[in-house]
Amino acid sequence: MRAAVLETQPGELIIQDIRLDKPLAGEVLVRTVAAGLCHSDLHFMENKWPAPCPAVLGHESAGVVEAVGEGVTYVQPGDHVITCLSAYCGGCDYCLTGRLHLCNNRAAIDRKPGEPPRLSRPDGSPVNQFFRLSSFAEQLLVHEHAMVKIDKDMPLDRAALIGCGVTTGLGAVFRTARVEAGSTVAVIGCGGIGLNAVQGARIAGAGRIIAIDMHPAKLEMAEEFGATDVIDASKVDPVAAVKELTKGGVEYSFEAIGLKSAAQQAFNMLCAGGQATVIGMIPMGENIEIHGPDLLSEKKLTGSNMGSNRFRVDMPRYVDLYLQGRLKLDELVSARIKLDQINEGFATMKTGAVARSVIMFD
Ligand SMILES: [Zn+2]
Ligand SMILES: [Zn+2]
Repeated sequence: MRAAVLETQPGELIIQDIRLDKPLAGEVLVRTVAAGLCHSDLHFMENKWPAPCPAVLGHESAGVVEAVGEGVTYVQPGDHVITCLSAYCGGCDYCLTGRLHLCNNRAAIDRKPGEPPRLSRPDGSPVNQFFRLSSFAEQLLVHEHAMVKIDKDMPLDRAALIGCGVTTGLGAVFRTARVEAGSTVAVIGCGGIGLNAVQGARIAGAGRIIAIDMHPAKLEMAEEFGATDVIDASKVDPVAAVKELTKGGVEYSFEAIGLKSAAQQAFNMLCAGGQATVIGMIPMGENIEIHGPDLLSEKKLTGSNMGSNRFRVDMPRYVDLYLQGRLKLDELVSARIKLDQINEGFATMKTGAVARSVIMFD
C-alpha cells in the first residue's frame, strides 16, 4: 500500500510502498477513506517533538473495516469507524477510573517482541506506527481499542476530523474544563482546534465567547462558529481587551496554539477563580511563567490531552450533534487533497490560512 513516511526529523513526507501485516488477536484492518492533516503531525515533521523514524505519520482518520483478528467482536467487516490515538489498555489505574485518555499501559495493546511489525518496508525492515495509527496510508492496522464504530450516515471525511481536532477542542470545553451555561469564555487561536473550542462553548451554553486570533479571516469563521466577540491580537493586547470586555476577566480560557506567550495570556485574562486550559502542544523544553501571587485568587492553569476524551462515548455523540445540524464540520474542511499532495497540504497549513486539509483515498 502507499503511505507517507517521515524518514528523518526534520523532514518532508515521502510516499512509499509500505507493507501491512495481517491482523493478529485484538487487531483490525481498516481501509482508510479520509485522513486529516493535523498540526501535531507538522510538529513532528519540524522536529519540535521527537518521533522515532522512519514512521508513517497521520492520526486523524476514518474508514471501513476490512478484516478483524482473532477475538475481535466489537466490529466486523463493513463497519464504519473513526480511529483515535487515545488507545486504551482497559486495565491500568487510569483506565479503571474512567480516564482512558491518560492510559499508562498502552504497550499492552502493542505487538509483542517476536511478533512481526505491523508496518514494514518491502525488504522486511520495520517502520514505526505513529501514535499506534499511521493514517497517512491506504490502510490502517490498529488495535480494536483505538477505534469507535459510527453511524453509516456520517460522511467519512467529516468523521475523520472527529478523530483528533474536533474531539480535542470540544472535549477541552466539555470534559477538561466543564464549561457551564452562562459562563464567560475566551479562546486564543482560531484554527481547527480553537474553532471547535468556540463551538463547544456555544453548545455548552456559554454566555460570552471571545475569540482571539491575528488573522481576520479566522475571526470571521469564529463568529460563524459561535463567538459573541472577537479580538484581533495583532492590533490590541488581548489580555487588556478581554478584561475590558468582561469587566475583570473570563471564567474559562483556552489556549489553542501551543505558544508559551499565549498560554501566559490565557492565564492572565482570567477572573478570580477562573481556569485556563492549554490545549496546544508547547514545544519540548519551554517553560510557562505565571505571576505567583495570582494563585491566591484561585486561578488555575491546566492542560488538556485529546480533550480528556472517553472517545467511544464522546465520538458517537459528536456524530449525532453533526447529523442534527448542531455541530459545524462542513466548514472545517477547507481542502480535499490526494495523498501525493500531502507536503503541499502541510505547506499551506504553515501559512496559517487554512482550517483543515483532508486526504481522500479513493
Ligand atoms: Zn491531531
Ligand atoms: Zn490503561
